[in-house]
Amino acid sequence: MAFAAVLVVCVAVLALILSDKVLPIEVWATPGSVREREEEACEVIEIDLSENTARTSQEPHPKQTEIPPKTTPVVFIDAGHGGNDGGCLEGDIIEKNVNLSIAGIVKDNLERLGYEVVMSRSEDIYVAKEERVKAANSIRADIYISIHQNSSEVQSVNGMEVWYDGTDTQRDSRRLALLVSQQTAKSTGAVEREVRGDADFHVTGSTQMPACLIETGFLSNREERRKLVSQEYQEKIASGIVQGIEYYFHPKTMYLTFDDGPSAENTSRILDILKKRDIKATFFLVGENVEKYPDIARRIAAEGHTIGIHCYAHDYEGLYRSAESYIEDFEHARRVVYEVTGVKAVMFRFPGGSINSYNDKVYAEIISEMTKRGYVYYDWNASIEDAVADTEPMQLIANGVSTTLGRKKVILLAHDVVYDTGMILEELLDSFPEYEMRPLSEDVEPIHFKDSSAIG
Ligand SMILES: [Zn+2]
Ligand SMILES: [Zn+2]
Repeated sequence: MAFAAVLVVCVAVLALILSDKVLPIEVWATPGSVREREEEACEVIEIDLSENTARTSQEPHPKQTEIPPKTTPVVFIDAGHGGNDGGCLEGDIIEKNVNLSIAGIVKDNLERLGYEVVMSRSEDIYVAKEERVKAANSIRADIYISIHQNSSEVQSVNGMEVWYDGTDTQRDSRRLALLVSQQTAKSTGAVEREVRGDADFHVTGSTQMPACLIETGFLSNREERRKLVSQEYQEKIASGIVQGIEYYFHPKTMYLTFDDGPSAENTSRILDILKKRDIKATFFLVGENVEKYPDIARRIAAEGHTIGIHCYAHDYEGLYRSAESYIEDFEHARRVVYEVTGVKAVMFRFPGGSINSYNDKVYAEIISEMTKRGYVYYDWNASIEDAVADTEPMQLIANGVSTTLGRKKVILLAHDVVYDTGMILEELLDSFPEYEMRPLSEDVEPIHFKDSSAIG
């Protein structure tokens, strides 16, 4: 009896799934997948958001109305053109064939990584753009990537362009486009011409999931055409696209930290940008500045950023005269921050970092006493070097990118009292699409200079 009831539930859930997944063209990539979904339907699938992974357990059974969430991302790969629509033509090179060839390699690589891949076409046939979009929408693909080649009357033009619909901010298309562009440029060495948010294509505009269209190169450029038709270069393109997709679903983690503030204009500018992008960061505050700009300090807390203590007065010699002088200054700053913001700070950052030329005789004693009191300190392992005088604004971005060294976990040092830092912040954030920005909290494993992996 119980078994029969279970069977009814399974069949009902399966019917719901299938009714939702009927496709005009190529359906699931592997023949076994419908059966796998049938089995999945009888399990409760718990999504563990903190780990970004899904796990399953055998019991209990879902209610009849529940459709289990997908466990693996579904990527829709759209090889542009096909059949009697060739795309651009250069001699005997037809765009549709290059697109299909790259799309096939992307599919194979993604499947090897465990993704589910659906193609708009897997052979040389004509598929209307409306059909492509309908197919992706009806299976609720997680992302959509369209692959094309470019052409120009100016034969010297070369490089890569990625397009997305910037008018739709509900979808995460911009991050997808930035990642595909960044990673493909990295793997091919091609010029990253532009990531354009003004796409007016059906495939980027009418899809319901994050979508972008990549023009991987110019068939009109003789040198680039030679590369684009080679297996070796197509593999480089494909591995870039796949790496971009990997970071889209599994981003690395960056903790943005701002020291020395608050300051009236510079901190406000930074807070405006963070708010617009819905990014939370961490501010290590200076007590004196909190007294000067209490409203800004309160705004930092009110907008969900986390607060740590930097010091009360930013005076290296006074601070590091002795462990006592450090702790006295720290507790003073902590009191001020609490009175102004209501935050009982536990995190702190040493002015100059935990080990510096001013504190080599006292740092061990300070760390020991502060740890005893329950405080947690954070150094950094990447920096935009904005505290270095006379640095060109664009150099700050280059510093940030070069010091992250591709690490999975980055604590990035910046200063919200520096004018240029606010000026380049948007561009800096765009340089890190492979990172998810999070605020520090006491439960984040700290980075300390004394551990060898950090940069001083
Ligand atoms: Zn095309
Ligand atoms: Zn400082």
